[in-house]
Amino acid sequence: MESSLDPNFDHSIFQHFVHNHSNKKGNITDPVAITFHIAEAIQGEYGLSQDILQSELNAVNNHFSNTDIEFFMCGAPRQISGEQSYTTRNADELNARNHIANTINIYLVNDVMADVFGIGGFAFFPWDPRDNLQKYIMIDRGTPNLAGVLSHEIGHFYGLYHTHTTLNGLELVNRSNCEFRGDLLCDTEADYNLALGGIDGCKYVGEVKDSNGDFYMPNPKNMMSYSSHRCISEFTLDQSNRMNFYHTRDLSYLKSECSFPDFLISSAEPSKSIRADEDIKIKYSLDLDGDIDLEEIEVYFWLSDDEAELGTIIQKETISLPPGSTSLDLDFNIDFPINRSTNTYFLTAQVDPEFKVLEQEEGNNLHTISVTVDNSALEDQVVFANPVSNNILKIFLRDKSTKTELNFYIWDHLGRLHKQVDVFKNREEYFEEIDVSSLADGLYILEAHFPDKGRSESFNFYKQSL
Ligand SMILES: [Zn+2]
Repeated sequence: MESSLDPNFDHSIFQHFVHNHSNKKGNITDPVAITFHIAEAIQGEYGLSQDILQSELNAVNNHFSNTDIEFFMCGAPRQISGEQSYTTRNADELNARNHIANTINIYLVNDVMADVFGIGGFAFFPWDPRDNLQKYIMIDRGTPNLAGVLSHEIGHFYGLYHTHTTLNGLELVNRSNCEFRGDLLCDTEADYNLALGGIDGCKYVGEVKDSNGDFYMPNPKNMMSYSSHRCISEFTLDQSNRMNFYHTRDLSYLKSECSFPDFLISSAEPSKSIRADEDIKIKYSLDLDGDIDLEEIEVYFWLSDDEAELGTIIQKETISLPPGSTSLDLDFNIDFPINRSTNTYFLTAQVDPEFKVLEQEEGNNLHTISVTVDNSALEDQVVFANPVSNNILKIFLRDKSTKTELNFYIWDHLGRLHKQVDVFKNREEYFEEIDVSSLADGLYILEAHFPDKGRSESFNFYKQSL
């Protein structure tokens, strides 16, 4: 985004800074905190893991290798809820809800609609009059060169203009006015705006002339040009100097270290073996690092038959966090869904699933174990918990007939029908739960009827309220 000139920029002060500063380069770098926010709408779709972002950030740091600045991730990327597309208006709202003070807040979203030529995002200049809390960077995740686009927008954040800017007036090819026109830097070639054409691959092939009749020779690799996304890869020394200048003058409020509290959940039991009608009894330990200002926290349990996916939530628990605790032993009784056949499943415990605590790392809030369900010890037809005392009749049927209609009837001993449930049986091991709260205590007959086969199985069960 390009909207304003630095009202306090003094060319001689800048020259003085560059002169005095030139010794520093290479000796020491200042760590600068970046907070990445990943809007929910793109989670998964692009697989923006912490590892991927770290490697993009490493590439950004390579681009900044001629500056005094080295960026680091301030805690894990924040997963936030977001919209499909952003203009400055709803981006301000997104930032107001999620901003982490004194860090560079970078939002990775599906679509940014701010800039006609759109290099893939926008940022605010250091001299922008808005409050620091209202300055951030918006990035369109769909770019083929995320590190390049990040560096471009961070470049604006650190006071760089586009190489083709005309805010200061038009720069001439012969450099006679390069200190005071265009991007104010003399080692960036005069540029008429490569979004208008003139590049082939990453080579300049245009024949555009300036007002003197000199041919432009812009560099399509310059990070602050509107070249193709794939090409932008270089800052010049003057650009690096200008970023150092704003780093010192306006951006020294940015943190050089980050420390947040952290949860870590683990279990000494890597696997469990149960029958489908049994609960899973499992112990976890929860480590708490740093100050967590909450009295209780939620733990969700997810079950999946695919290790790569969380699956569905099967239980939610709330645990209390005694003040000052650094480690908690947790015992859970997981009510395993009865309708799972003999197979291996993955049970994942997730601490703070709604991200109430701003953490150093969120990846260690999850712990997965495998659960093997082995029903071979069960008889072919079983009514669990007989007598039924809790109003739920649990039925297990092992039967070769699959892809078949199945009707359950509940009769009393006088032959009166009390309940009918029609289902579809699509696998050998079949489970069903029938609500029998409307039945009075007593003896009943459950009939499992296969209408396609004209065949029935019957069992007796008792209902006996506690
Ligand atoms: Zn730009």
